[in-house]
Parts: sequence; C-alpha cells; structure tokens
Amino acid sequence: MKTEEILRLLKALSFAADKHRFQKRKDAAGTPYINHPINVALMLMEVGKETDADLLVAAMLHDTIEDTETSPEEIRALFGQEVLDIVLEVTDDKSLPKEERKKLQVTHASHKSAAAKKLKLADKICNIADILHHPPSGWSTERKLQYLSWAGEVLVGLKDANPLLENHMKEMLRKGKEFFKTYENLHA
Ligand code: NDP
Ligand code: ZN
Repeated sequence: MKTEEILRLLKALSFAADKHRFQKRKDAAGTPYINHPINVALMLMEVGKETDADLLVAAMLHDTIEDTETSPEEIRALFGQEVLDIVLEVTDDKSLPKEERKKLQVTHASHKSAAAKKLKLADKICNIADILHHPPSGWSTERKLQYLSWAGEVLVGLKDANPLLENHMKEMLRKGKEFFKTYENLHA
C-alpha cells in the first residue's frame, strides 16, 4: 500500500473513531464501537485478501451515516465520491421499520456493486463472530439462531463477490448453527 493510501486509511480511522466516540457494541463488556469497523477492514484484508484503498476506507466508515450524525457531504468532501457511493450502498434507511429494513437487505443484496457486496460480507462475518464470541447481552439462543438464518438469506445475494469471504461466512454459519443447536438440545 502506498504512503498516501495508508494516510487516507488512518484519516478514515480517526474520523470514524470520533464519530462513534460515544457508542459501544451491544456485548456485555461494552466494547468501544470503533473496534467493529476496524475488524471489518481487517476481515477484508486478512481473509478476503482485498487491498483496494477505497474499499478499506469505506469499511472504516461503513456505519457512520447509519449510526452517527455524519452527512454524505462530509464523507464526499473528505474521502471522495467513490468511497461515499460504497458507504451509501451499505447504509440502511433508518426511517423504515426494522423488519422492513431486514427484508430489504435480503432482496437488495444481489443488486449491489461488487465493492458493496464485499463490504457486506465482511460486515456480516464480523457480526456473526460477535454473536458467537461477544453476543449482545440478553439475547436468547433462539434470537441468535434467527440472526444467523437471516444472515444466511443475505449471503445468497452476495455470492461471487469474494469467494474467500463467502466460504468463510458459510463455514461460520455452519459452525454457529451447529453450536447453538447443540446448546439448545443440551438445555432442552
Ligand atoms: P439487531 O439488528 O437488533 O442487532 C444486530 C445488529 O447489532 C448487528 O447487525 C450489528 O449491526 C449490531 N451489533 C452491535 N453489537 C453487536 C454484537 N455484540 N453482536 C452482534 N451484533 C451487534 O438484531 P436483529 O433485529 O437482527 O435480531 C436478530 C433476530 O431476532 C431477527 O431475526 C429478529 O427478527 C429477531 N428478533 C427477536 C426478538 C426476540 O425477542 N426474540 C426481538 C427482536 C428481533 P452493525 O453492523 O450495524 O454494527
Ligand atoms: Zn457494521
């Protein structure tokens, strides 16, 4: 990666850390929110072998418009139209009811750009890893299983964007479902 790309990535990290500074993940330990976009960018690089700077910058910023007071104009001015386009493609319309948003993620997945599909794969993988290892406090086993099966429905529309990420997600879903079903059986 060129020096100027590393600089842009660090600027995106600094921007996202500032925007998410009052937010925590939903796990019991209250992990700082910024750990999640960092993990998504790492997932793209380490498992997906992705090196495109716009994609990695977009990964760092992917939840800023959806979950903080960030405007599209800010992202365009600081990081460019290409990055903004990717971020907007993975941003849910929060004015819609939650169930509607979840359905739209399933039906819209196959119509996304290749970059947005890669980012969605990495995002879902990180959320599944969190459900397995640092789950939202108060979630029942049933709710975790519901999340995994919904993620599996989204995955169908994301195929062929990055086979490394796709296979990793399939394997995690398989292991996760097996684990929770065994757990349910043991505690039935
Ligand atoms: P939510 O959308 O409420 O929560 C999951 C989202 O929270 C993730 O996509 C992630 O989004 C973010 N997140 C933050 N911290 C964590 C963490 N530690 N682990 C995982 N994700 C985290 O979940 P759903 O509404 O999708 O609920 C899952 C399923 O349960 C659904 O199918 C829903 O229908 C069902 N449900 C069941 C209820 C019940 O009481 N049984 C009640 C409501 C829903 P991001 O990438 O943006 O960080
Ligand atoms: Zn996310």
